[in-house]
Amino acid sequence: MSSLKAAVVGGGFAGLIFSLKLLQSGVDVTLYEEHGRVGYPPHCTGIVSERVMNLIGKPAWRSVISSYLGLFLQGGGRRLKVDVKGRIYKLERTMLEELMLEEALSLGLRFRPERVSRVSSSGVVEVGSSRLQYDAVILAEGYGGSLRRGLSIGFTGKPMRGLNAEYPNYHGLREIFVIFDERISPGFFSWALGADNTIVAGLATTKAETLKHSLLRLERALGLTGRRRVYGGPVLTGPPGEKLSIGSVHVVGDAAGLTKPLTGGGLYPNSLAAELAMRTLEKSGDLNSSLSLSLKYVASRLRRQYALARILLGSKAMGLMISLASLARADLLLKEVDYDEHEKVFLTALLNLISPAS
Ligand SMILES: Cc1cc2nc3c(=O)[nH]c(=O)nc-3n(C[C@H](O)[C@H](O)[C@H](O)COP(=O)(O)OP(=O)(O)OC[C@H]3O[C@@H](n4cnc5c(N)ncnc54)[C@H](O)[C@@H]3O)c2cc1C
Repeated sequence: MSSLKAAVVGGGFAGLIFSLKLLQSGVDVTLYEEHGRVGYPPHCTGIVSERVMNLIGKPAWRSVISSYLGLFLQGGGRRLKVDVKGRIYKLERTMLEELMLEEALSLGLRFRPERVSRVSSSGVVEVGSSRLQYDAVILAEGYGGSLRRGLSIGFTGKPMRGLNAEYPNYHGLREIFVIFDERISPGFFSWALGADNTIVAGLATTKAETLKHSLLRLERALGLTGRRRVYGGPVLTGPPGEKLSIGSVHVVGDAAGLTKPLTGGGLYPNSLAAELAMRTLEKSGDLNSSLSLSLKYVASRLRRQYALARILLGSKAMGLMISLASLARADLLLKEVDYDEHEKVFLTALLNLISPAS
């Protein structure tokens, strides 16, 4: 296995988790990142399930800021408590990526802080005037990258815009709230959580031009004032790109649209795909087919959930809130919810719409 060589383009979460898992299977991995460092610029809240913590391993456990037993859904004058399987964790995202890089380096990663200008389906990577041949190339260039477009693979949809605002020295909030309010986050939801004496509030919306106003409305609703640190980026709620592999090139992360359809969370689907690729590779020894099969499998699960979510939500996230509320009354749904896989939640909610629980 040690003779297999892979290039990973992009040192965001997706590039790092694929680098780690491939290194763990004995692949010789070179990671290209156009910035001199990883985890930069930050854009993510860093909320993950216990399952994701275990898939990432040590770097995740060392980045924990706080943990929660569940979350509250709030909207339309109602508040519902959702218990999740295991715990939910808030991670320090820049630290997570730095620790993932540290672990990858300790496993023999070659880190090159350089921009890749071109990739060909035969596995050639162009950097400056060099052309380097790899057995497999993983494009983890994020939504903003352009290399996948030249190969006609990956995510082609339109993302929402999201942002986080951190308010230091706020005490008292220990939970996570998911807030459904069309005046704050048209077509989506906003969130607020307490983490280590800081409140992190965030939102995403299909109307990027209203982001600043939305943040002011959210601040008013939560009673937040004063100095804050704001950062954000694209939030992709799917569906994943139709084609994720061509020849020896495979696209992952936001560049592939590998995100959860309800929340846009990218850490779970990429951790799962990387783990599956590693396990398949260990059995088959075939790097390219392991990558393309695992990506196909994860993307097909996400597509199914995306289709169900669309039926359920119609055009408004509030639709989900209302159907969940009716299920909560019947005590059917909101216990031990799987934070990552939403098929069961969506199917139960759909059935309840057709035949409401009394
Ligand atoms: C406001 C907000 C909150 C979020 N909250 C959560 C959350 O709580 N939980 C969760 O699971 N997900 C969350 N997400 C989603 C998550 O952040 C993304 O899915 C994930 O970070 C995407 O990682 P990535 O590696 O695919 O892309 P990126 O993080 O964008 O990384 C791409 C990297 O590729 C590099 N690059 C691009 N082109 C080249 C090139 N040609 N050569 C070399 N390097 C290149 C870039 O410099 C960059 O470092 C959130 C997103 C937002 C915007």
